[in-house]
Amino acid sequence: MTMTKTISRNFFLLLFLTLIITAFIGDPAAKQANKIEATPLAEILPTYATHFDFPVGKPDGEGYYNAQVFGKNNHLGDDWNGNGGGDTDFGDTIYSVANGYIQSAENQGSGWGKVIMIKHYMETESNVISLYAHCDKMLVTKANHFIRRSEPIGTIGNADGIYPAHLHFEIRSDTDLGIGGGYSANTSGYLDPTKFIKAHR
Ligand SMILES: [Zn+2]
Repeated sequence: MTMTKTISRNFFLLLFLTLIITAFIGDPAAKQANKIEATPLAEILPTYATHFDFPVGKPDGEGYYNAQVFGKNNHLGDDWNGNGGGDTDFGDTIYSVANGYIQSAENQGSGWGKVIMIKHYMETESNVISLYAHCDKMLVTKANHFIRRSEPIGTIGNADGIYPAHLHFEIRSDTDLGIGGGYSANTSGYLDPTKFIKAHR
């Protein structure tokens, strides 16, 4: 009986000590772990765009040509067409050029048709917008929705039948510009898309 009592007392003493040690040593570590888990990094920092691909023929634009380069006829973007010519590229998939967040996806009216704009957060330089115009279908609609590089976002269209099918594609350094006109001698706020992509592969 005495032996059993001693064992029992020792057991409870050991349990008590274990609880004390856990409270002093184990708890701070557990709290730290919970803190990290409760606040994912993605909510603190935006997911950066670290690499850019071409918006058609992923990832290098294979099977497509740039029919109207940036600056030609005061063009503020690139016009991507399928090598087959005409409307052979109608309905082809358009891909997000980099990680980013949907800024807007809506019909911008005459001359533009359906337009998708994605904001890309850059780690060491100014943020940019990529713009995809004249879409037939838009596969994304939700503003601020995160999108990954090379994810399908829409299909090539003709802006409700006013052009031969192609993708008008812009990269903007001014992330607050309105829809604009697609052409201007003033290129302030616009970047050469092909040059930009090639510099960020
Ligand atoms: Zn164009």
